[in-house]
Amino acid sequence: MLNEAFQRDARRLKRAVAPELPYIYLSDASNLDGVLARSTHCLGWQTNYNPLLRQFLVDRGEWCGVYPAVIIDVANVRELAADTTITAAVLLLQTFTHELTHALPFAVLPDSRRVPSAETLEQARVDHEKWATAIFNPVPWWQHGLEFTRRALHLHYRATVAGFDVPLDGLCAGPKYALAPPESYRDALGDEPARMAGATFTEILRTPLPIEFRELFRRDCAHYRTLHPPNKEALVA
Ligand SMILES: [Zn+2]
Repeated sequence: MLNEAFQRDARRLKRAVAPELPYIYLSDASNLDGVLARSTHCLGWQTNYNPLLRQFLVDRGEWCGVYPAVIIDVANVRELAADTTITAAVLLLQTFTHELTHALPFAVLPDSRRVPSAETLEQARVDHEKWATAIFNPVPWWQHGLEFTRRALHLHYRATVAGFDVPLDGLCAGPKYALAPPESYRDALGDEPARMAGATFTEILRTPLPIEFRELFRRDCAHYRTLHPPNKEALVA
């Protein structure tokens, strides 16, 4: 379960690094037992809208509109932390920051306020179970490519300035995604995070990327493609 101290820290971090995001739901995957399946392969996941999650929150009186949700698998985080030099508390905060990266930029979504049909709920359950039991990544950096890495580096910069201990290693880029180490991407991004520390993520997205950053990503993709057959792969930024 997510202890109170962590939840406080996570919400404080969100306010410091992404003030444009008015609210975020935060839950441990085990709280959703019987509602949304746990995944064996990840520390957490993020969704902007899931009808089953909405129903779950409505039933508990916790629904307050369409906002992103971050689900952390505390058991998986603790298991991984036991094998590394990072404490579970630090790994929890890093996992939260990673998932928060997926939630940005924040866009207001409509809330139909309709009770989802049984078919909609069933389809959501099937889709989630597919995701939870099988990894489908056309390329290792799928959903963690160019713009994800950029956003993560901005969040990391802001979190560090605000005094949070969020290790860069494991947050984004690196061998897990077949990319250069995050430090290389940080260097290639230059002073953009400092210059845009007060910007929204929509404003950041609209700003052209430094050429070095784009080039580094292009080289990483090209290197991966020389090592792996190109069929069925798509470059996903
Ligand atoms: Zn991710």
